[in-house]
Amino acid sequence: MTVSRPLRLFNSLGRRIEDFEPATDVVRLYSCGPTVYSYAHIGNMRAYTFADMLRRALLWKGWQVEHVINITDVGHAVAEAELGEDKIEVAAARERRSVEEIAEMYTQAFFTDLAALNILPAHHYPRATQYVDEMIAFAERLVERGFTYEIESGLYFDTSKDPGYGRLGLIDVSGQLEGARVEEVPGRRAKTDFALWRAEAPGQIRAMRWNSPWGWGAPGWHLECSVMSMMLLGEHFDIHTGGVDHRQLHHVNEIAQSEAYLGDGQPWVRFWLHNEFLQLGSAKMAKSAGQVVTVQELAKQGFHPLAYRLFLLGGHYRSQLEFTEDGLNGAQAALRRLVRRTAALGQLPLITTFDEARALAADDAGATAVIDQIDDAVSSDLNTPRVLALLQDSLRDATLSEQGQRVIAAVSAAVLGLPFGNLEPADVEPAAEGLPELDHAMVDKLVADREAARSSRDWARADALRDELTQLGVQVTDTPDGPVWSRSG
Ligand code: AMP
Ligand code: ZN
Repeated sequence: MTVSRPLRLFNSLGRRIEDFEPATDVVRLYSCGPTVYSYAHIGNMRAYTFADMLRRALLWKGWQVEHVINITDVGHAVAEAELGEDKIEVAAARERRSVEEIAEMYTQAFFTDLAALNILPAHHYPRATQYVDEMIAFAERLVERGFTYEIESGLYFDTSKDPGYGRLGLIDVSGQLEGARVEEVPGRRAKTDFALWRAEAPGQIRAMRWNSPWGWGAPGWHLECSVMSMMLLGEHFDIHTGGVDHRQLHHVNEIAQSEAYLGDGQPWVRFWLHNEFLQLGSAKMAKSAGQVVTVQELAKQGFHPLAYRLFLLGGHYRSQLEFTEDGLNGAQAALRRLVRRTAALGQLPLITTFDEARALAADDAGATAVIDQIDDAVSSDLNTPRVLALLQDSLRDATLSEQGQRVIAAVSAAVLGLPFGNLEPADVEPAAEGLPELDHAMVDKLVADREAARSSRDWARADALRDELTQLGVQVTDTPDGPVWSRSG
């Protein structure tokens, strides 16, 4: 029997590619989740699409996965500060709603986006507000172990007590400080020290407040992930993910407090994986920077959410990706082409793992070779652009059998999370809001006629047909694969 290759992942701890093996048969995976004070933007959704790709790669290797994505509904202060107001409280005041309504509304919107992007639901979505007692107990143990000190603004983790602080992951302390805006906190001993408990200032009464040994207040932001991950996945687990910004501050602090809490000399989590940023106009897409785009807004402009997913998969997760409308148009055209070709293959088999794929392609040397190449790409630190290219080539490859192409399409659907078997060509051509219904067969025919006119060098007729398409609000792009059309809105 052929076994799949080892899964090689880039571990931010040590910054190198390593073979991944879980501690048990079930891979325990934690992804830092959204702060639910506004809609997640498409940059945030890159982080969860990446975690989903990772999860699908783990399933492909035949492991089970237990996945946690937390919901930060308290604790995350404005500008990642210690003294600042809570992001949720600010949003509640701005929108004249209760903090609970704000958190619930944006949590539901987040779930809608996850589903639209075909991201496998996590097994647990713990909310920080549900774990405050456990966070207090965790902080009490850090107090007992001598890792903390108390000042007026709350209980702080004393990073000087942790000789490994920032060392894990090759994060030096100065590097961390560059990434973070450093605020003045009266009484704080080192700029790297961070709040475990944020006490209310004298006279202040927060909208979200709990009593604690350090007075009324709210937990610090980093605490929740340590506590909820350990509660749900066990003290040590396999993989922790997040965006690269977390590598500089949030995850450094999670590691410091967790290893201080456990005190067993073991690394808390073995693999740390980080996705690079989605950029907009060469800057990181960020809520604070104002210019953000959401999945739902893209859908209103006529872009299928899975076109955005494909756009993301077209780049490696560790590369910055520049978001442009052209790029997204190209992804939507590519998606449409893939859906047309896979739909023409008829019913696709259901495949999740390498072994299932190899079994189904057992007598087919051509398909087996492609499956092995896909496995190689997945195993090489999740090379999704390569998987996409292999799929596209295979669907054009006349030497492959139809059954072989079916298996390859099903494999790609599994590892890329593009549900070809369940998509119709018309699905990836959603009528943009406010645009009239479009007769797809007619558009296809006009495009084909124009192509024929171009082949016979009848430029006048080709131009007339293009004008007709433009009248219908359809834009035709000529690609090496032939023309593709989209609605121009
Ligand atoms: P937040 O809701 O701000 O806590 O962020 C949720 C997730 O999105 C985190 O893992 C961030 O690292 C990630 N993230 C934030 N902005 C971007 C971006 N522009 N591109 C990719 N990931 C991002
Ligand atoms: Zn976290």
